[in-house]
Amino acid sequence: MRPQRQQYLEALGIDVWVSRAAPPAAAPVAAVPVAAEVGPSTPSPAWLALREEVLRCTKCPLHATRTQGVFGVGPQRADWLVVGEAPGAEEDRRGEPFVGAAGQLLDAMLKAIGLDRRSNVYIANVLKSRPPGNRDPSPEEVRACLPYLHRQVELLQPKIMLAVGRIAAQSLLATDAPLGRLRSQVHRFGSIPLVVTYHPAYLLRSPGEKRKAWEDLKFARSLYQQLAQDGGGDGQRA
Ligand code: SF4
Repeated sequence: MRPQRQQYLEALGIDVWVSRAAPPAAAPVAAVPVAAEVGPSTPSPAWLALREEVLRCTKCPLHATRTQGVFGVGPQRADWLVVGEAPGAEEDRRGEPFVGAAGQLLDAMLKAIGLDRRSNVYIANVLKSRPPGNRDPSPEEVRACLPYLHRQVELLQPKIMLAVGRIAAQSLLATDAPLGRLRSQVHRFGSIPLVVTYHPAYLLRSPGEKRKAWEDLKFARSLYQQLAQDGGGDGQRA
């Protein structure tokens, strides 16, 4: 195991057991991409227009109580799209999704599978404005805001989506099934394969579930690698 991944797994709270015996010589393996490295990209005019629309949006009452809309973060040409529920207090203040303690855990989770919001994963929420007091979004608010995520997906064209948390999973999949039943399978958001896992804020409250989240991440990573291989490419975007 690479030391860096070991470091991130330890940050995740996953015990890493290392044999004292000398490891066997590594067999040569085919190069399978973890994710296309896209780096900073210039947003398209359509993307900038959508962002502007979100930041000015008054389609639901949340616009009156937010500090600012939170559009998302990451390169516009990332293969991976991670979707959470809604901005919290810190996200509302800073205008970026998944910051603070939960954001740091999400970053460690993503880094353990080779993803970084600065280079190869886009992160957004179902709701772009913070519900007061961090309450759950109402169905009306989700209905009002979800078209923005649909348009983000159209413009990003991710190869895989990861829904983090019950609210995000249920909103994206239009179901009321519990999160435990939605894990470990491949869903679709439109034509995009989607995998479900726990929200990092929940994992901070329930660290015993981190092992399951790590299983979900490995499941998503192997699905992405399978998609990249089936596509006959190297995971790089045209
Ligand atoms: S939550 Fe969505 S629909 Fe409601 S005001 Fe914010 S951007 Fe508009």
